Amino acid sequence: MAADRLARVRARMEELGVDALLLSLGADLPWLTGYAAHESERLTMFVVPRDGDPAMVVPGLEAPKVASVSTVALRPWSETEDPVKLVAALVGPAARSVAISDRTWSTFLLGLQEAMPAVSWLASSTVTSPLRARKDADEIEALRRAAAAADVVAASLLGGEIPLIGRREVDVSREIAQRLRDEGHSRVGFSIVGSGPNGASPHHDASDKVIGEGEAIVCDFGGWFEGGYCSDITRTVFTGDPPAEFVELYEVLQRAQAAAVDAAVVGTPCEDVDGVARTIITDAGYGEYFIHRTGHGIGLEGHEHPYLVSGNDEPLAPGHAFSIEPGIYIPGRWGARIEDIVVATDAGPDSLNRANHDLHVVEA
Ligand code: ZN
Ligand code: ZN
Ligand code: ZN
Repeated sequence: MAADRLARVRARMEELGVDALLLSLGADLPWLTGYAAHESERLTMFVVPRDGDPAMVVPGLEAPKVASVSTVALRPWSETEDPVKLVAALVGPAARSVAISDRTWSTFLLGLQEAMPAVSWLASSTVTSPLRARKDADEIEALRRAAAAADVVAASLLGGEIPLIGRREVDVSREIAQRLRDEGHSRVGFSIVGSGPNGASPHHDASDKVIGEGEAIVCDFGGWFEGGYCSDITRTVFTGDPPAEFVELYEVLQRAQAAAVDAAVVGTPCEDVDGVARTIITDAGYGEYFIHRTGHGIGLEGHEHPYLVSGNDEPLAPGHAFSIEPGIYIPGRWGARIEDIVVATDAGPDSLNRANHDLHVVEA
């Protein structure tokens, strides 16, 4: 277990008056212990009392698996034991404030609430998210490797190595996903291909629609690189010669994205980075077509703190890693988005993605 992380978690529990932290599904657990629980009706729960020794309540049959990747103390339970009672006993009767993984199944939370009626509950992210948001040097290198792998796939797209015209979006999506795996991703999170009017829906998945000539294609893809940290990149290409109207829209978007990256300096409030992109897009007349926040944090999860959105006045700190991904979406016509992963450092914003940002015309 990363001892410094445990110490930071405990300091934060102290600060918030949290008596125990219970980690189950989600990324807090692997961040702290190296072990990721899988979805199961058998409870796995890491119990971190503020003062006493932490222990992981784990189904007995899975104990060897945990021990192979983590050094935490284990409290295996047999098929006839009640793991909720075990957790409650480890937390102890004096606890009044307990934080629990945001993604714990409610069946377990309901049982724990019944077993510990005097406790008030909060989400574990309240404790962990400001800690997880600031990446250490190893985490930044892991994100950099993930970004480099995604860049290779993006470069193939921009270079026309991935045929588009005449193929269905789903086929292109599958090819992008396969290329991500070939570049070292253990799991693909998403591979959005939105062509023509479909590109105007930011989270359009990929449909049976056949890609035609004269269309903008928004491709947004990423996943877990080598089982750990995430990639997430968007590039938009055009099949055949783009009309002046689209070239103009794209030029505004490219300027907004670059300006937002430049604005992502330590000390700047998250919402101001959003404001930089939004002002450029709004001043060019496309404000109503930029319908989402400028970015999200990224790490062990594809979306995590900090969020670059109006209302979040949290200042960027060294080690914050996040996407910068403004988009312009004209319903019924087309859309465009450019997305890079950026790290705030004392030396300025460090863009991990290096794939070209210019509008690329793909002829095939
Ligand atoms: Zn998105
Ligand atoms: Zn994305
Ligand atoms: Zn993103």
